[in-house]
Amino acid sequence: MVSAAAVYVRISQDRSGLQAGVLRQQEDCLDLAARLGFEDPVVLADNDISAYDGGRRPGYELLVEQIRAGVTTVVVWHVDRLYRQPRELEDLIGLVERHPVRIEAVRGGGLDLNTAEGRLMVRQLVAAAAYESGHKSDRIKRTARREAEQGAWHGSARYGYGPGGVLIPEEAAVVRQMADRFLAGESLRSIARWLNTSGIAPGRAGTGTAGIWYPYTVRSVLASARISGQRAYAPGRRADPVDGREILGPGDWEAIITPEQTARIRAIVADPSRRPARPAVLSLLGGIARCGKCGAGLTIVKHTPAAGGTATLRYACRSDLSRPERGGVTIGAAHLDEHVTARVLHRLAAPRTSARAGSTTAVLAQISTLNARLAEIDQDRQDRLISVREHTAARTAAREALAAAGRALAAVTGGAVALHGAPIGDRSGLEVWWESLDVPGRRAVIKALTNRVIVGPGQRGRGFDSRRVRITYSR
Ligand SMILES: [Zn+2]
Repeated sequence: MVSAAAVYVRISQDRSGLQAGVLRQQEDCLDLAARLGFEDPVVLADNDISAYDGGRRPGYELLVEQIRAGVTTVVVWHVDRLYRQPRELEDLIGLVERHPVRIEAVRGGGLDLNTAEGRLMVRQLVAAAAYESGHKSDRIKRTARREAEQGAWHGSARYGYGPGGVLIPEEAAVVRQMADRFLAGESLRSIARWLNTSGIAPGRAGTGTAGIWYPYTVRSVLASARISGQRAYAPGRRADPVDGREILGPGDWEAIITPEQTARIRAIVADPSRRPARPAVLSLLGGIARCGKCGAGLTIVKHTPAAGGTATLRYACRSDLSRPERGGVTIGAAHLDEHVTARVLHRLAAPRTSARAGSTTAVLAQISTLNARLAEIDQDRQDRLISVREHTAARTAAREALAAAGRALAAVTGGAVALHGAPIGDRSGLEVWWESLDVPGRRAVIKALTNRVIVGPGQRGRGFDSRRVRITYSR
């Protein structure tokens, strides 16, 4: 077999911490390569070139060629020898995504760029190195390092993220809904109530809260900079200020909401009078259903017939003087709500089994099958077809499979909360469950399951015509 390893060494002018010359680095790297079982690795070197000034690195360029040619292990003295600017790191990550490669370092251990955690760790190291290169005086260096360390995720898991800032999809889905609700005008208290009645545990976010959400735990999640991927200044205080800590800049972890949303949330937290008024009628499909003529979101309007009589609620494409294409399309709200609800519940009661593996539909079908299996297992026990022990074992297996499918659903829909506790596959159970949801909860279910709800133009004076409604579902 050809040598599948390469050693890469580099020395730059301004390093003070790692004063290893190229030769010393090379010796150490060859030792490590030998210990890893590589006999004659290719050695590539860049000498006395600072990566920070954008100077070319011929050795590094050859290394990239080697990786493309099939080198699977790269041995370096320290990972920061490989890249010192985030831009270079992104290139390297792009490269290893196509050509799996393992980075082994003499100092600091190996980093596996093939895992998300590994890449996150590398990005943090690079952020620290970039700060260090940019500033030369020791004093600035110290400040920069401290800031860079804050740029990296520090500390333990916070709601939405595991240790090291790794995104937890199920919790991220909850955070997204919390933010949607808050920005739509819901109070912190009402969001806490919704979370508690939905049976969503606050995780490790609030220690000592005994699994219960309080308005202040909701606030500390929503006003945090981290959920929009930003780092904040935390000068050694335990409690967050009411409207969150001062934002320093982007962090190295995945955002759940946008920085713009965080800014809006903080503005409302700081001054509750800015909270948007909730519409008197929060409609099921306002903004979700769209106009088939112009694509605008439909809004709910009260329609009073010209001849007098009872006012009814309708979804309408609002006319807009500056947008002459707008307006005209309207549909009865009660009818559309009923129709879309029936379609969505049908989707949950009888998911198509033919769907592509890993799709929302396929996962729903899987959950439906497992729920049916659980019912069967209980029936078999009742009919004395299986022993108590067999019953327990079968139930445990089915429950574990269900939990795994639930996690898969969280990953595909990003709407795991919406479907939390939904008795998928059980038509009458689904109706009871739907009744228990509030309007924002139902909207979240519809959003998780559909891509589009389009209402085409209708003819005046006609009754409800379901053919006007075109629903496309999440794949
Ligand atoms: Zn329109």
